Amino acid sequence: MQHIPILVIGGGIGGMATALALAKAGFPAHIVEQAPAFGEIGAGIQLAPNALSVLDGLGVLPALDAVAVRPRNLVFMHADTGRHLTTVDLGTPFQRRYGRPYTVLHRGDLLNVLLQACRADERVTLETGRQVVEITDLDTSAEVHFADGDSYRTDALIGADGLWSRTRRLLSEDRPITDTYVAYRGALPMSDMTAPVEPDDEIVWIGPHKHLVQYPIRRGELYNQVAVFRSSRYTPERELTDTWGLADELDEHFALSCEHVRTSIATVNRDRRWVMYDRAPLDNWTRGRITLLGDAAHPMVQYLAQGACQAIEDAGCLAHAMREHDGDVDKAFAAYQAERIPRTSRVQRVARGWGQVWHDDGDVIPALRDRIFGRRRPDDYTDMDWLYQPVAS
Ligand SMILES: Cc1cc2nc3c(=O)[nH]c(=O)nc-3n(C[C@H](O)[C@H](O)[C@H](O)COP(=O)(O)OP(=O)(O)OC[C@H]3O[C@@H](n4cnc5c(N)ncnc54)[C@H](O)[C@@H]3O)c2cc1C
Repeated sequence: MQHIPILVIGGGIGGMATALALAKAGFPAHIVEQAPAFGEIGAGIQLAPNALSVLDGLGVLPALDAVAVRPRNLVFMHADTGRHLTTVDLGTPFQRRYGRPYTVLHRGDLLNVLLQACRADERVTLETGRQVVEITDLDTSAEVHFADGDSYRTDALIGADGLWSRTRRLLSEDRPITDTYVAYRGALPMSDMTAPVEPDDEIVWIGPHKHLVQYPIRRGELYNQVAVFRSSRYTPERELTDTWGLADELDEHFALSCEHVRTSIATVNRDRRWVMYDRAPLDNWTRGRITLLGDAAHPMVQYLAQGACQAIEDAGCLAHAMREHDGDVDKAFAAYQAERIPRTSRVQRVARGWGQVWHDDGDVIPALRDRIFGRRRPDDYTDMDWLYQPVAS
């Protein structure tokens, strides 16, 4: 059986950032990915300063800057009335406060930048078409078994295998929980947008049980749209079927929205729907030489746009812990989870709450929200400090 010192399961954003961070800290890392090729879906992703500071340390910011967009403002609008709710200035005062810009880009571009950086570092090795079907904890090592019958033994196993993580099953019997919202998303050429576009802004249209997020990506050549709504046809029995949250419901939910939103919804990609899931925070991610990272450790609903940002923070923290403890895996994993679990648990919880603030249809929460939104200045970042202030590593 082949021996691999550090093995990462999953070549998504979390796994790729982790292998790169470990390599930069002096530790060779091997990634196994089940898909036949590394790739991401054709939609956008937002990266906040807390993630960018880690990516800066990995030396990939120039490559990201070449394909990304730095929005000037984050604008909240009411999806139904079309009323302006609040604007967050993402320009100079934001960048002065957090040391990095707010950045949006195509997911494929982000993964590609990480992949190229991994390939350029001889300490990172990568394999695709390698599906892990079984993991054995041997206390001072771990074994992974692949669908093709092959096996590896490793001194340190990092499960970055996403929302439906197989690695997590060694630590918990929990399963993903849906808030019964679904998303439709995708990017289209800027010139195909029929609704007027603010090319320098990210716009979030919020309303009862729905929202629409819009922003430019790939140097402004593409426009990314994410439309999200709570399906009224969800039942627990139907959860794993495709009989609810379908495209006709998308149109129904936005039928009474303002004209801009309705026009935009007509151009939202309907090829595939994503069910929104998270899980409750765990109080332990580690068993022997096995630990969790990214969505495998702390899946969250996307309303704070932090799932990948937190995975990138995990990567920086784990590599730092390995360096601090001279490669002692037991100590490094303990230090890693001691630092990361409190922070990611808070982000998971706040993400749920933030979604409720966007989607509430009662008399109280929207009224309070709109009043607070209406009173804040565009350069008032007080409520964002806990999230965007880079964490030390
Ligand atoms: C609608 C939506 C919008 C979002 N927007 C944002 C945003 O703007 N900003 C942000 O920070 N986050 C955002 N997120 C969250 C973000 O997409 C995730 O948190 C992030 O992609 C998680 O990365 P990961 O590497 O942990 O997991 P994944 O991306 O799921 O990667 C896991 C990898 O492991 C592989 N794998 C799984 N099982 C096995 C196995 N058994 N063997 C081998 N390989 C395996 C998979 O094929 C996959 O490549 C959003 C999420 C959604 C749903």
